[in-house]
Amino acid sequence: MSQRIVQGETIAAIATAVVPQQGSVGIVRMSGQDAIAIAYTLFHAPGHQVWETHRILYGYVRHPQTKQVVDEALLLMMQAPRSYTREDVVEFHCHGGIMPVQQVLQLCIEQGARLAQAGEFTLRAFLNGRLDLTQAESIGDLVGSRSPAAAQAALAGLQGKLAVPIRQLRSTCLDILAEIEARIDFEEDLPPLDEAAVVAQLEQVLAEVTHILATADRGELLRTGLKVAIVGRPNVGKSSLLNAWSRSDRAIVTDLPGTTRDVVESQLVVGGIPVQVLDTAGIRETVDQVEKIGVERSHRAAQAADLVLLTIDASAGWTEADQEIYQQVQHRPIILVINKIDLVEEEQKNTLQSKIHNLKSKILTAAAQNQGIEDLETAILEAIHTGNLKAANLDIAINQRQSAALTQAKTSLQQVQETISQQLPLDFWTIDLRGAIQALGEITGEEVTESVLDRIFSRFCIGK
Ligand code: GDP
Repeated sequence: MSQRIVQGETIAAIATAVVPQQGSVGIVRMSGQDAIAIAYTLFHAPGHQVWETHRILYGYVRHPQTKQVVDEALLLMMQAPRSYTREDVVEFHCHGGIMPVQQVLQLCIEQGARLAQAGEFTLRAFLNGRLDLTQAESIGDLVGSRSPAAAQAALAGLQGKLAVPIRQLRSTCLDILAEIEARIDFEEDLPPLDEAAVVAQLEQVLAEVTHILATADRGELLRTGLKVAIVGRPNVGKSSLLNAWSRSDRAIVTDLPGTTRDVVESQLVVGGIPVQVLDTAGIRETVDQVEKIGVERSHRAAQAADLVLLTIDASAGWTEADQEIYQQVQHRPIILVINKIDLVEEEQKNTLQSKIHNLKSKILTAAAQNQGIEDLETAILEAIHTGNLKAANLDIAINQRQSAALTQAKTSLQQVQETISQQLPLDFWTIDLRGAIQALGEITGEEVTESVLDRIFSRFCIGK
């Protein structure tokens, strides 16, 4: 169906990440009708090893004519349909680094395989019915996941936790459609349509669609991560905070104001969610040109952030400069970080907390002593859960494409409801119902166009 592949043609690719001089194993993978024949030509398995499906052979990959050995390797043959693509698949498990896998791949291509396109193995798995589209997308998500929670959501998708309910909803819509169409075609022979039952069923489908749609925000968060900007005037301890948090020395801690000229980024994981932390130079008016660039960047970073950690120095209290910065970021979700708490007396802390700006979320830290980091993480998780993620208590997390199709299905279903309430003829009911069925089918791939497939699979890496 797609121009991207001719079924059965043998494709080959390096399936593992390849770094010169690194990696202990590299895999070259072939799929298609000639995969096994090509493996026979290239692989020499000494002794009495049996060429059997799903059995590992030990031996050498050799040039078929010159017999020159290019690698010592293991060979795994998986005969159709018990393979990733449901075609004959062969894997050469080579030594790591770049040369062994490249030379083995080259030999496969000389013997008639062609280089696979991005995602082509998974596309074949989809076209051969081994995976539906949500599962194929989950594989891409799993490879790209940056936190345990993201990986979990991808695995849930791979296990069909999205596909199963979507298929069920589509099947209910198809049943309703059949009921209605029967009334259109054989009006006299059948009892009248149970309109109340149809309305109730539609209501249920709509509720479930809405429920699944609520996981879109979580999906977005798991895929792109939460962007957190640490802002505050110079010297309040922003870099120290990031240092304590990431327990690394990425940010330079110094006594000189304004030395964090640029935005330093760190990737952390909080409660299973990937968090990208932007440490910025203090936001303040400045005449120093270099620092000004930093200030502009930090201002932009705060704008781009999902959450702002507004950091202040406890020993200085809430200063005018803090107020200025607050005004620049106040439209963003904020956690107030009261740092250097070790420098103030115990009873001062309480007055400080009540006096300081009435931001709901505030925590006390002593970054230089690694204190308060747990409270910081708790506050971040609270901010996430009281925010737009509240409704997302499913373990799946839909992506943008799935969200768009579900929204389309929702709109169509609402239109059917509207048509029914207006008492329009049955023909009209079917139009939007078909729209909903189409949209749900696009999610699982039961109804999908070639361009959608191209868009999905081109994001994969070659060899996947
Ligand atoms: P930034 O300019 O906001 O990034 O501030 P830095 O992280 O560079 O910290 C400025 C100074 O404050 C450094 O000398 C830090 O050691 C010190 N500092 C940071 N956090 C704390 C803290 O919690 N307590 C105390 N006493 N000093 C701190």
